[in-house]
Amino acid sequence: MPEEDCLFCRIVGRFVPAQIIAENDRFLAFNDINPQAPTHVLIVPKRHVATIAELTSETAPLMGEAVVLANGIARQTGIAEQGYRLVLNCGSGAGQSVFHVHLHLLGGRPMRWPPG
Ligand code: AMP
Ligand code: ZN
Repeated sequence: MPEEDCLFCRIVGRFVPAQIIAENDRFLAFNDINPQAPTHVLIVPKRHVATIAELTSETAPLMGEAVVLANGIARQTGIAEQGYRLVLNCGSGAGQSVFHVHLHLLGGRPMRWPPG
């Protein structure tokens, strides 16, 4: 069920605008409002799950599907060849600020390791 006070549920429901990159029955992908790289897209399952830690064997396959979508967006945006980074932040200590699971797709610049 969508959560009224969840920003990404509100974007999925089109109550909050976003620059949408791709959509299907189960996902919405849109540009991050505060991009950390030339390409920074969020791949968001329409189903509300607060954190990666809450995924179950029933809902975890969604994230595999999110990776496949991210790969396609990486190819379409031209960042695939040089390499890109997929990020899942789990919990506030790891930098999660929106508690609706999402996969970050970052690319278009060299990536350093370890991440901050
Ligand atoms: P995280 O910190 O992993 O929870 O990622 C949440 C991301 O959502 C951050 O990178 C934010 O910049 C991004 N964000 C916050 N509000 C919006 C918004 N209205 N539209 C698009 N991206 C957003
Ligand atoms: Zn939500």
